[in-house]
Amino acid sequence: MPRSFFVKGIILKQLKVALVSLGCPKNLVDAEIMLGHLPDDRYTITTDESLADIIIVNTCSFISDAREESVDTILSVADHKISGHCSLLIVSGCLPQRYRDELSKELPEVDLFIGTGDAGRLATLIEQCLVDRTPLTDIGKGDFLYDHTTPRLRSSPFYSTYVKIAEGCSNHCSYCVIPEIRGALRSREIASIVDEVRALTRAGVKEINLIAQDITAFRRDFGETGALEKLLRELVQIEELAWLRLLYAYPDHISDELLELMATEDKICAYLDIPLQHFADEILLQMNRRVDQAAIRKLIARIRQAVPDITLRTSFIVGFPGETDDHFRQLLDFVKEGHLERVGVFRYSREEGTPAALFADQITDIVKNRRYHQLMKAQGRISFRKNRGLINRVEPVLIEGLSDETDLLLQGRSIRQAPDIDGKVYVTAGNAEVGQIVNLRITDSSEYDLVGEIVEA
Ligand code: SF4
Repeated sequence: MPRSFFVKGIILKQLKVALVSLGCPKNLVDAEIMLGHLPDDRYTITTDESLADIIIVNTCSFISDAREESVDTILSVADHKISGHCSLLIVSGCLPQRYRDELSKELPEVDLFIGTGDAGRLATLIEQCLVDRTPLTDIGKGDFLYDHTTPRLRSSPFYSTYVKIAEGCSNHCSYCVIPEIRGALRSREIASIVDEVRALTRAGVKEINLIAQDITAFRRDFGETGALEKLLRELVQIEELAWLRLLYAYPDHISDELLELMATEDKICAYLDIPLQHFADEILLQMNRRVDQAAIRKLIARIRQAVPDITLRTSFIVGFPGETDDHFRQLLDFVKEGHLERVGVFRYSREEGTPAALFADQITDIVKNRRYHQLMKAQGRISFRKNRGLINRVEPVLIEGLSDETDLLLQGRSIRQAPDIDGKVYVTAGNAEVGQIVNLRITDSSEYDLVGEIVEA
């Protein structure tokens, strides 16, 4: 960028900023907070990286696949520094937070490295980089926690968004680096979350997805129990709120009161995401998970008792050190019993600095891949069968717009489908506005998607 572009450090033109956010919705909220801290008299946001003066890659690094995707993305957008307008490449998020000392040597293309909690200093650091024109690594402690007053430029559709109720995690599962990257559990104030949700729903948001590393640990860092339930009771009072979805619950923190609220409050989606990670007792113990098979079975029975029509999502790790054929058989048989509507499967990733990385009997990639595909296939059959069971039912569906497949169809998500991770509903008859919640009769289904006709807009 020509030095004449600014005088005495003052930027003379509006700079176009493009941001690529990788990883989980918690990281996406951080990305939106970064954009919120860029004064709009100096910066405009573009989704076209080839036109951007500044490109930010908000990275993920919790497992090797995520790290690879982050580095590949950084290297591919770095091309815009040669062929495009880009004169400043910024890398933020979990990769620099975790590898703060090594990265600048390995990625000389990058001009600025910041961490997971440095949004507040972004504008200053950008101007410093533009003036000094020397690469900068400036990574904070990562102990930031936003609230309802924090500037945030939302990137998700107007009708749906994520609200992070806590940051960090103190559960210390033996395979997980998140506590190291994101720090110990830090919960927000209930009043601040209520103010944020009230402002979002008054701005047109219909669906609020509550997220944290473990939402059921909410305010346990203050020695409180029942805080999540208290928060939910306040949130459902908000008139404009339509759907409240709970993501990332820990299996041993699901209270009867929470289930009671899910059973009685229409605004709380009958949907729960509870990562179980495995099912064999020995492996759960090695993972430092505070539940065993019996507890998992009891939990699912309690949930189905309280909310019979609930949609349960979980995630499992295959190939954990010491996982025998019999351990895997136990997991596979459990999945085949069909207790879960949605299952995500991860191949164990040996993460430096975690206890499990030092465990004996590390599993080969061939075995991990075989178990991954076996489990996905088994769950695919279950999901297909469960979706078939929904045909002829009338379900509330949030209309998202024209289908990705064809302009002839509208598409949306039913209350059973979380954003960005679950399937879609394709609308073959009836009309509705984007962001509208309609009643739809399901006429057909596949493994992950549903098809139907609007019966009442
Ligand atoms: S609960 Fe989740 S984020 Fe926390 S340590 Fe375990 S796997 Fe990691």
